[in-house]
Amino acid sequence: MGSAVLGKAISAIRDWSISEASTTSGSQAAEVFGSLVFNDQVQQARLPKGVYQALRRTMTQGEALDVSAADAIAKAMKEWAVEHGATHYTHWFQPLTGITAEKHDSFLSPTGDGKAVAEFSGKELIRGEPDASSFPSGGMRSTFEARGYTAWDPTSPPWLLYSGGAVTLVIPTAFVSWTGEALDKKTPLLRSMEALSKQAVRVLKLFGSSAERVVTTCGPEQEYFLIDRYFFLARPDLINAGRTLFGAKPPKGQELEDQYFGAIPDRVMAFMSEVESELYKVGVPVKTRHNEVAPSQYEIAPVFENANVATDHQMMTMETMRRTAPKYGLACLMHEKPFAGVNGSGKHLNWSISDNEGHNLLSPGANPHDNMQFLVFCTAVVRAVNKWQGLLRAAIASAGNDHRLGANEAPPAIISIFLGDMLTDIFEQIEKGGARSTKHGGELDTGVLVLPKLPRDAGDRNRTSPFAFTGNKFEFRAVSSNQSIAYPNIALNIAVTESLDDIAGELEKAVKGGKSLDKAVAELLPKLIKENKRIIFNGNNYSKEWEKEAGKRGLLNLKNTVEALPQMISKEVIGLFEKYKVLNGREVHARCEIMVETYNKTVNVEGQLMVLMADRYILPAAFEYQKQVAQSVSAVKSAGGKSVEGRKTLDAFTKLTDEFKRRTDKLRHALGHEGASSEKHAKHFRDVVVPAMASLRDAGDELELMIPHESWPLPTYREMLFIK
Ligand code: ADP
Ligand code: MG
Repeated sequence: MGSAVLGKAISAIRDWSISEASTTSGSQAAEVFGSLVFNDQVQQARLPKGVYQALRRTMTQGEALDVSAADAIAKAMKEWAVEHGATHYTHWFQPLTGITAEKHDSFLSPTGDGKAVAEFSGKELIRGEPDASSFPSGGMRSTFEARGYTAWDPTSPPWLLYSGGAVTLVIPTAFVSWTGEALDKKTPLLRSMEALSKQAVRVLKLFGSSAERVVTTCGPEQEYFLIDRYFFLARPDLINAGRTLFGAKPPKGQELEDQYFGAIPDRVMAFMSEVESELYKVGVPVKTRHNEVAPSQYEIAPVFENANVATDHQMMTMETMRRTAPKYGLACLMHEKPFAGVNGSGKHLNWSISDNEGHNLLSPGANPHDNMQFLVFCTAVVRAVNKWQGLLRAAIASAGNDHRLGANEAPPAIISIFLGDMLTDIFEQIEKGGARSTKHGGELDTGVLVLPKLPRDAGDRNRTSPFAFTGNKFEFRAVSSNQSIAYPNIALNIAVTESLDDIAGELEKAVKGGKSLDKAVAELLPKLIKENKRIIFNGNNYSKEWEKEAGKRGLLNLKNTVEALPQMISKEVIGLFEKYKVLNGREVHARCEIMVETYNKTVNVEGQLMVLMADRYILPAAFEYQKQVAQSVSAVKSAGGKSVEGRKTLDAFTKLTDEFKRRTDKLRHALGHEGASSEKHAKHFRDVVVPAMASLRDAGDELELMIPHESWPLPTYREMLFIK
């Protein structure tokens, strides 16, 4: 069976030709970019001037939109969509599952005379009512009404989805219950951005800035694998769990390091081009593509945008990749660890904040005054990550990411910050009060802090850090490849909000008390650095020494999801969410509950799949081979000979097969557990089921190396990763 699958895959690969690709050349790219988006240009051209201005105010200043404006926008939007062939619209939202949800409604309304007209009112644009009872709410709706509604998020532009010959107007929305509780990821993200803006503006005011708003910016780098679809379809584990649950290490893995940034294979390039072209059309500014470290692993990254739009665009990117891959005979794997023994996939969340005048607040300035402001914001992030490390860790916790964090190749489970030598040195000087006092420019008379001009790319590269300063932004690298970036964004936003609130309070008090801002900053920073510097680590995050050192520093080392998730519902974290009105206690608990349940369901599905594959794929193959060896031994015997090695092989193989069967039964039994609560259930999965899976896999992978290739029922790592 294995060889039949392999044969098909190989002929598909052989027969594939580049002409199938629909690529967008460079000059076309500029033309098609945003062509399917109801963007600023379209809005300006199609909306009455007053309505356009009202919408801009909503988008940039968060002003509410009135009904008549909404009606006018809906009308223009519908006309534009229908001209492009759209027949339906959908309120697109991000429920608490990992994916996006959409329900399509037709524009058509019957007119009574057997005809129909295309209609779409402001009310329909602004509010929708999906039947939401099947979405997880973490218990939030059970005590209230079961219904939820979707509300248009005017800060993220609608676009047209072309799929299966149909055209649909997609309207990004938030999803809330009738009692106003957030049932999605967008609502708290928007609230967290608002909270951060408020506190950041307070700090900016102290520095004499006239900025009125601050936005979170974000550029997520997505890692993924592409393998031939025939291989994918022949692996029940890939289809249902997104990762291989069995699979012996191939003779060649990634040790030759001949893949990273290497030439991209034709078929993969064709896939990438189509993905990029589709994304350009819907306004996603994808920019870079390259081979990653593991064989058949790649990366796609956009130009950074407002974090809310970037989050929508990231979901669209994943969706487009999944949808496009089969056209090229490929399967796109976004799991954190599809293959054991080679690198897993992450999503680097590049994060910064910038004011409405376009200044990146984490960019070192050109003069000491700007640098002082930069250092205040930078210190705020350092403080935030130190103080809220538990929340940040919890925000990236999942069964999939457990295979990455703490393994010897991805960021460890310990959250720390890489600042780079230069910045670390400056921090050390400031802590010692060593930054020299001189006059600067006459205006800041005390001039206590004189900082060197910082080079643009002050952050050198450290690939082992979970959270790195990279010149003018921070890069949260421990984020997982499969997850929405909403949570890590929210966690970072509120952690930094709290820091800025604290810092603004201190500085305002000092300035009110008659101190110059320079002096106030010069007094505050050393204190903050002293309190929070334990989080800074520039060395090798994979080393055993770091684990020890981090322990001495009192940093959290939460090795798995079950350990990490309680951090999300600590008293302090709930207080943090509530203080900045991002989520209330119930909403936080609901999210944590869903994350625990998702962990349980994921491990359960994987365990069940392993039992299925053991019973129905691997054991039959093992018994068959056992019979063959036994027959060969007895054939030799009846011919009067003695097969010494044959006998040994039979004994060893029989022993291994028996062991494999025992371990299968053990896992089967472990999966029968009933948890008293989801937390207890999760502990059982972690402590009993996950180890039982690992031990079954060991035996299965050993069998794979003994059973003849043509009777092995699954595509192997060597084939999946290297035949392209
Ligand atoms: P890397 O070496 O990590 O690939 P890049 O400079 O290519 O670094 O940037 C990676 C990502 O960081 C890109 O998506 C980019 O748009 C994003 N990025 C750059 N500046 C910012 C910023 N100010 N805020 C958020 N993301 C940013
Ligand atoms: Mg990066």
